[in-house]
Amino acid sequence: MTELLFRENPYLAACDASVIAIHDGAVELDRTVFYPMGGGQPGDTGRIGAWRVMDTRKGETPESVLHVLEPGFDLKPGESIKAEIDWERRHLHMRFHTALHLLCAAVRAPVTGGRIASDKAHLDFDIEMERLLKEEIEACVNELVAGAHATQARWITDTELDARPELVKTMSVAPPRGEGRVRLVDIPGVDLQACGGTHVQNTAEIGPVAVARIRSEGKRNKRVTLVLR
Ligand SMILES: [Zn+2]
Repeated sequence: MTELLFRENPYLAACDASVIAIHDGAVELDRTVFYPMGGGQPGDTGRIGAWRVMDTRKGETPESVLHVLEPGFDLKPGESIKAEIDWERRHLHMRFHTALHLLCAAVRAPVTGGRIASDKAHLDFDIEMERLLKEEIEACVNELVAGAHATQARWITDTELDARPELVKTMSVAPPRGEGRVRLVDIPGVDLQACGGTHVQNTAEIGPVAVARIRSEGKRNKRVTLVLR
């Protein structure tokens, strides 16, 4: 089992850790700052000791994290190493990820999908195209950014979540389960949903955003793409 440090403190860019398992092309650590791909957010890249981490994926259990290393790495179980993420890239993911929560608040419609990158992020909505107005959405998201709202995470049980299905906003991205509890991300008065990703602590940190495009990707997928200005 791995202690997932990014959950309690997403601003932690590095940690000391021990190698607990070696897989084909990947290692597991006893604790990590590396976010594994999930919920539309890419896995972190960075370094473990002398070796480059090219991607981070979830392992077989909810608390196992596979750090995918460059070929030819030489690490052994029990070895102490320093794990360090590419912070600038992760911070962009955190800003975009939090911006998508604001986009959820700006567009009141079911979310059918979403994806985050370091240069843009989008959500797909089940809504008529005519109801998606670029200027209106952009103004609303930027107002929420400028409002400097704090973000906070807390946990509820799977049973509590089942009783409140409205907390699962993105139909295609089920919140991580299997631990008996689910993480909620709350931007009080703005947005509340089950989410396992990494976020900035205050919406002001996102900075001004622009709606780069609004495009139909199918009957139930109207895609709104955000960029940072
Ligand atoms: Zn989130």
